[in-house]
Amino acid sequence: MRFTLLASGSTGNATLIETAQTAVLIDAGLSARTLVRRMTDIGFDPTRLAAIFITHEHSDHVGGLSVLSRQLARPVFIAPATRRQLRFKDRDMASIPWADPLAAGQPVVIGDLTLTPIAVPHDAAEPFIFTATAAGVKLAVVTDLGYIPPHVAHHLTGCQALVLEANHDRDMLRAGPYPWELKQRISSRVGHLSNEDMARFLREDFDGAAAHIVLAHLSQHNNHPALARLAALQALDAHYPHRTWETVVTVAPAAGLPHWCPL
Ligand SMILES: [Zn+2]
Ligand SMILES: [Zn+2]
Repeated sequence: MRFTLLASGSTGNATLIETAQTAVLIDAGLSARTLVRRMTDIGFDPTRLAAIFITHEHSDHVGGLSVLSRQLARPVFIAPATRRQLRFKDRDMASIPWADPLAAGQPVVIGDLTLTPIAVPHDAAEPFIFTATAAGVKLAVVTDLGYIPPHVAHHLTGCQALVLEANHDRDMLRAGPYPWELKQRISSRVGHLSNEDMARFLREDFDGAAAHIVLAHLSQHNNHPALARLAALQALDAHYPHRTWETVVTVAPAAGLPHWCPL
C-alpha cells in the first residue's frame, strides 16, 4: 500500500490510497484539473482510480468532486446527510455516479482495499474519517474533528500509518488574525484538532504501532510545521521513553503540495 496526500489544509484536501491493484481517493477538495495534474505529477494514472470517498461537505473536501467524479465516471461513496448538503447544480448532482450510501462503521470493499467510515465530532452534517486496510496493512486518515473520542481512538489501533490532524497551535490561534467567532469554532469540540490535542492522543491513546505519522490539515496562519512536529515528537518521547523502534513523523505541506509515504 502507498498513500499520497495530494493536498492538505484549508485550501483543499485529497488523499490517494493505492495498492498494486486498487486505488481510491479520500476527498476531492481541489479542482478536478489540479487533482488530475497532481496525480499525473506523482506518476499515477487517474483512470486507475476505482472510487472516491467523501468525509464531509466542507468545500476544502468536495470542491472538485462534481467534475472529477463525472469526468472519470467513478462511484462516489458519501453519507446521505453529507450528500444532501452539497451545493452543486441539480443537473450535476443527477449525473454524479453515486454509490450505495455510507453508514458509520460499515466497511466498503473495493478490490483488495477495505475502507471503513467512522463518525467523528465536526461541524458538518455527518462527518467521517476513514481507515483503509489491505493485506493486513492498516492506515487511517484522521482530520477535521474537534477531539478524538474513545470509539475513534479504538479504531486507530493497529495502524501502520496515521495521517493525523494538527490544525493549529492554541497560542497562535488565540493571538492570530481570525475573528473571535471563527477562533471559537476552530477550537470547539466540533472544530479541528490542535497540536496539543494531537499530542495528547500520542501521549495517552496511541498504541505505538504506526511507523509513519503524517501531520496534516495544518493552518497556514495558526500553526508552524516545526511546532507541530516538535509537539508530536515530545509526546512520543513522553509515552515511550525507552522505545527502540522508530516512528517517522513528517508534516504535510500546508501549501498543499503532494506528500507521499510508503507502507
Ligand atoms: Zn477540512
Ligand atoms: Zn471540515
